[in-house]
Amino acid sequence: MAKALEQTIKHCRKCDRKTTHQRTYNKTGLVMFLVHLVLTVATVGVWLLLLIVWKLLNAKIGGWICADCGK
Ligand SMILES: [Zn+2]
Repeated sequence: MAKALEQTIKHCRKCDRKTTHQRTYNKTGLVMFLVHLVLTVATVGVWLLLLIVWKLLNAKIGGWICADCGK
């Protein structure tokens, strides 16, 4: 699966200043969209709920890494 690099400026607790943060994420392609669509229909929307919960949890965790200190 194709990986993309995302960058943002965030406050780093270890550096105690604003630094560049990076994270990689999987690009959701058309195939994955169709798979999710089929599974959503097949599970009468249950899959969509699971997907939303998973996306929310993933957004909360973030996975951002400080480019300066690596934390
Ligand atoms: Zn840092």
